[in-house]
Formats: sequence, structure tokens, C-alpha cells
Amino acid sequence: MERKLTKEKLDIIRQQIVDNKVCTNLADQATNLVFGTGSPDADIIFIGEAPGKNEDLSGEPFIGAAGKFLDEMLQSIKLERKDIYITNIVKYRPPNNRDPLPEEKQEFLPYLHAQLEVIQPKVIVTLGRHSTNCFLPGLQISKIHGQPKWIKVKRSSKMAEILESDGSEMMQWVILPLYHPAAALYNGGMRRTLIDDFQKIPEIINQIETN
Ligand code: URA
Repeated sequence: MERKLTKEKLDIIRQQIVDNKVCTNLADQATNLVFGTGSPDADIIFIGEAPGKNEDLSGEPFIGAAGKFLDEMLQSIKLERKDIYITNIVKYRPPNNRDPLPEEKQEFLPYLHAQLEVIQPKVIVTLGRHSTNCFLPGLQISKIHGQPKWIKVKRSSKMAEILESDGSEMMQWVILPLYHPAAALYNGGMRRTLIDDFQKIPEIINQIETN
């Protein structure tokens, strides 16, 4: 997909979140919608849970301590923010950083799927259990972290409506579940595991390119 077209389509999805009044309970208390940043034609998308305080104030995902840690890990595999795309499942900050509710994740899911459909990444890196379980329900992050999973997902009618597209085809994605950087930041063992898992990303992309 041509770059400009991709950016325009992402802008439309963003506007639809506002126009369709997605999660007004969260929107009413939020400063900004945190839609996503980075390259619209990235090979890798990172998906977190929901914006925190700093992200709510700035409108950008992962700019606090967890974001700095993520930047360091990106650098270690020679990537920068401009090379990738980052977003969250839930795009408004939950009050007091509480966990997003199942119905909030559900309401945002078609918009996240639409973002993925437009960007067409090679790998979707899910950060933490909330994000991972949106794609791999019932699996434990502690058992599957660092292992790429190939999945097929049916387009929902809502997603087709958002993109004004046909809802019949299946979407095929490669999911790489990783620990959430905020959880790993102050936990030595988990931190080491996340850093090690991160190093697998270039090899996984290579494998996909040669298949
Ligand atoms: N944690 C997340 O899951 N997302 C952010 O944007 C920031 C912290």
C-alpha cells in the first residue's frame, strides 16, 4: 500500500473512534486520544495495554519509563521509533491506570484490527498479557513469551464497516508475545527474559521474508 494512502486511512480510523463515541466513559476523563505513532508502513507493530498518565497528557504511546526501556531494546536491534509503529489496545487512559475492562478491550478491538489491516505488518509484537490475550486468548504469557504464533482471524463486520471493505476474507498474522516492559522494568528475571526475547525479532522477520 502506498505510504500516503496508509496514513490517510489511519487518520480515518482515528476519526471514527471519535465519531463513533468509542468508550465515552474513558474519553470523558481523558486528556487525549492516544491512537498510535511511528511509520504507517512498518514491518513491526508493538501493541501495549492502554495509555498511562504521561501518554494521556502527550497523546503519544510509551513515553514514560516503560517507553524509555522499549527504546533501549529497539536500539539493541538497530531500530528506532520511526522504523516501527506503536499503539495500545485501549486508546484512552483508564482512570488511575486501572486495568482495562474486558468490554473496553472489546470495544476497541475492531479499530485495532483495522489499524493492522491498513499497516500490514510482518510481525505483531504483543506487550503483556492484556495485549497477548486479545490475539491468543487463554494462553499464558509466562509459557509462550518469545515464541511466534501464526494465527488466522475473521474480519468482523464492524472492522469491515470502519474500512468500508468486504468482511469475508480471513486475516493472517504473526504474533510475537513479549513481557510488558513496565512489568519487566523492576523485575530482574523478567527483564533479562524480555531483553533476550527482543533479540529474536530480526531473525523472525528474516524467516517471514524468506518464506
Ligand atoms: N503502558 C502501555 O501499555 N502503554 C503505554 O502507552 C504506556 C504504558
